[in-house]
Amino acid sequence: MHTKSITELAQGLRTKEFSSVELTQHFLTRIKQHADLNAFVTVTEDIALHAAQRADARIATGTADLLTGIPMAHKDIFCTKDVKTTCGSKMLDNFIAPYNATVVEKLNAVGAVNLGKLNMDEFAMGSSNETSFYGAVKNPWNKNAVAGGSSGGSAAAVAAQLAVCVTGTDTGGSIRQPAAFCGITGIKPTYGRVSRYGMIAYASSLDQGGSMARSAEDAAILLHAMAGFDAKDSTSVDAPVPDYCADLNKPLTGLKIGLPKEFFTADLNADMTATLDAAIEEYKKLGAEVKEVSMPNLKYAIPAYYVIASAECSSNLSRFDGVRFGHRCKNPEDLTDLYTRSRGEGFGKEVKRRILMGTYALSAGYYDAYYLKAQQVRRLISDDFKNALSEVDVIFSPVTPTPAFNIGEKIANPIEMYLADIYTIAINLAGLPAMSIPAGFINGLPVGLQVIGNYFTEAQLLNIAHAYQQVTDWHKQTPSL
Ligand code: GLN
Repeated sequence: MHTKSITELAQGLRTKEFSSVELTQHFLTRIKQHADLNAFVTVTEDIALHAAQRADARIATGTADLLTGIPMAHKDIFCTKDVKTTCGSKMLDNFIAPYNATVVEKLNAVGAVNLGKLNMDEFAMGSSNETSFYGAVKNPWNKNAVAGGSSGGSAAAVAAQLAVCVTGTDTGGSIRQPAAFCGITGIKPTYGRVSRYGMIAYASSLDQGGSMARSAEDAAILLHAMAGFDAKDSTSVDAPVPDYCADLNKPLTGLKIGLPKEFFTADLNADMTATLDAAIEEYKKLGAEVKEVSMPNLKYAIPAYYVIASAECSSNLSRFDGVRFGHRCKNPEDLTDLYTRSRGEGFGKEVKRRILMGTYALSAGYYDAYYLKAQQVRRLISDDFKNALSEVDVIFSPVTPTPAFNIGEKIANPIEMYLADIYTIAINLAGLPAMSIPAGFINGLPVGLQVIGNYFTEAQLLNIAHAYQQVTDWHKQTPSL
């Protein structure tokens, strides 16, 4: 049952080949069998089985949605009412969310079954899932390798078939990069497409929720259920959500693909270049035309991002003060002691580093030199994309410089870890949608192709991914666990 797509499962549920309760039990068993991957922080067995029972009843009345009764799971950044919501941090290890994130509400409303909460980098800060208070997630393709971050639990759960599809969030690559490392399909939609209400904030001007699944079709179905205007999120965009499945089979004839010359350089690993070249050839066979584009400001993306994201996180994370949420130190002497020890004990090293960097960048005297400068660079990067996307329909690029690295390999060197985000971060600065599509393997580890589109072209990106998945089977490969 775990090898089937959402449409196939929905069909099986309708024709009573199996019930949602049976399907849910099957996935719960798989989660237990593969607990060593460390993909889940919390498994909500009872809640899932109750939801499955309700789904079976709804299916029997003939009012089911495609996702009714489908076992999925949420990144532990989305608040789930009455369920522990940790954001991968000791700070929230005791936090039971009092309400549901809008994304969770929407999926509950269509009758999707939530199996539990997925491991992630602490407060979504990281590129390898190693900053999680709950430990690294193992890559299902090679358990010595990282699953990627920050949505590492999400990606590993889909790759190991512990959930049919999952939610993720992406501030600088956290959907696309783990999707690439684990050989699954992930889409980060346009900023504002998916509500951030109840999605614990890291860097609010960059954070965006999206879907992760084995195929573009499944990712489209899940994204459709997640997206849409939400009055509770002032940056959510009030525009209708198209049917993301309607255009999946559109021919790609005449599609103009841009390849940024700043990304496809001699520095890119030779195996990676060969893998991506083969994918681009496949697109040419599908009728696409390829053209070089130039985006000269991409080289500033990492420094600009790490100033802006750190500045925003230093403000967002000030709410964790030992008073209102989460961890509180024992026997504080006074208020300052309560703040400093609660925060000192509750946050991990990387989170503290970001708060320090962000506070510094925002401080009087440095604000103009760092924060303001980074915002100016952000505009230049957006303009680069705008120019490139006036010449071509979409931009292709690598997702990561290499396939998944080993657990422990980069964690001691933050700069090296930040450089691993080189291909994903600029897209968040511009607020554009982008996908990672499985495009091959290097030494047994998956490689992703990144497809970047103009604002609100999610349907087109999913069409481009789906077309490729009709002529390749990279997305169908499964790790031997
Ligand atoms: N690796 C980036 C960071 O650490 C992006 C993480 C993300 O997208 N949440 O900030």
